[in-house]
Amino acid sequence: MTQKQQTLIMKFGGTSVGSVDALKHVVNITKKAKQEWKNVVIVASAFSGNTNLLIKTATHAKKGDMFFVQNAIHEIEQRNQEVLDTLVPSSNFQEDAKTRLTPLIDELRVVCKAVSVIEETSPRVMDLIVSFGERMSVILIEAVLKQANVFAQAIEATELIVTDDVHQSASPLVQKTNQKTKDTLCPLFKKDIVPVVTGFIAANQEGVLTTLGRGGSDFSAALLGVALSAEEVWIWTDVNGVMTADPRLVPNAKTIPQITYQEVSELAFFGAKVLHPKTIRPVIEANIALRVLNTFEPENLGTRLIVKEDQILDKDEPIIKSVTAIRGVQLVTVEGSGMLGVPGQAARFLSAVSKTGATVPFITEASSEQSITFAVPVAYTECVVEALRETLAAQIEARKIDQVKTTDEVVIVTAVCPDMQHRLGVAGKIFSALGDAEINVLAISHGSCEVSLSLIVNLDAMQKTVQVLHRLT
Ligand code: ASP
Ligand code: MG
Repeated sequence: MTQKQQTLIMKFGGTSVGSVDALKHVVNITKKAKQEWKNVVIVASAFSGNTNLLIKTATHAKKGDMFFVQNAIHEIEQRNQEVLDTLVPSSNFQEDAKTRLTPLIDELRVVCKAVSVIEETSPRVMDLIVSFGERMSVILIEAVLKQANVFAQAIEATELIVTDDVHQSASPLVQKTNQKTKDTLCPLFKKDIVPVVTGFIAANQEGVLTTLGRGGSDFSAALLGVALSAEEVWIWTDVNGVMTADPRLVPNAKTIPQITYQEVSELAFFGAKVLHPKTIRPVIEANIALRVLNTFEPENLGTRLIVKEDQILDKDEPIIKSVTAIRGVQLVTVEGSGMLGVPGQAARFLSAVSKTGATVPFITEASSEQSITFAVPVAYTECVVEALRETLAAQIEARKIDQVKTTDEVVIVTAVCPDMQHRLGVAGKIFSALGDAEINVLAISHGSCEVSLSLIVNLDAMQKTVQVLHRLT
């Protein structure tokens, strides 16, 4: 028999654990991994939909709508029971899981009741309420694995990951996390146990529960990988790795076998929700191999993440690796001949925008310095325009700025192009293709990171644009 590899972290997302069918796959995947690896750690998300449902429950509790709260909790309990009845028929394992789930459900009820009384949901309370998703999930997965003869043990990551005090988006304290993780998990490895760890949640130095932000379970897996010096981290999701495009927009989208961390960061940022952006840095720094795989098609090799130095590009390599689109933004343009050569203009605009809380995923300035255009989420457009008009009132009055104008909803289409820096004609080919297809491009930004090119098109041109660019993949 070949030598087993040392340590593997496998993260299963919400859809990978949220149904009886998915959990059957988790069992098979774990059994196979255990044959090939000495230490296997599972990091699990809440069952799909549960985090959203818990957030909704909190909002209803705040309004005093206890009818909604009761129904939601009942729905969660039923889902848990269905998993237990189908996959954990042995009364021992089922009973054991239930004795640990019941106090959690009771606690959730009490917290919701408290929220309804004080009519307030602080970030700290929100963290506590959403944490029940992951905390129930690991108990169920432990039971399902034990029933299938895998020694598993549910662990709350409050025992492993130490963070600062920023609720709903906490940052890890790496040294402390590494130490606690090793102290807690290594003894389990000695007993050949597979720890099943809650993704997403952590605790601050006082032990108060925090979360790493939505979608943060990928990040949890990366942190544990670093702490345990794992060789690999596998992110199990419901698609075949990182795709050349969203299959809903481009039915013949394919899996990208290899992508650099830098390229995938562009995609994560631009809405291809495969990998939480914070996941990437720790694993590169620790030289851990990362893979994105499909729980429902485990034989598919998915996508391997690589460092740029390992990228081998031959000249036949397609010029585009992947195309993504983000909807729900509008362009805001500030124009005026009196802007030319005035230092600090852009800073003034953006600081006005930042005070509204809007993020700016796209920005371009004309070299005449007479107009700056940027994209903001649709929900923020009105207050952004108001804030700009207020900040710039004196310049508008003096006719130095002519107008602050907005478009209808537009789409940011981003093409990730490997090694654009050293390849000629990439932009040329892209714009020829768009021109031939008679697509009207409203604005362009060529990421200076040299791996992506973003352009703005009208909403009704989104699908066509993505499909035209996808032909270059
Ligand atoms: N359950 C959390 C969320 O939905 C974390 C995760 O799934 O990664 O955001
Ligand atoms: Mg996710």
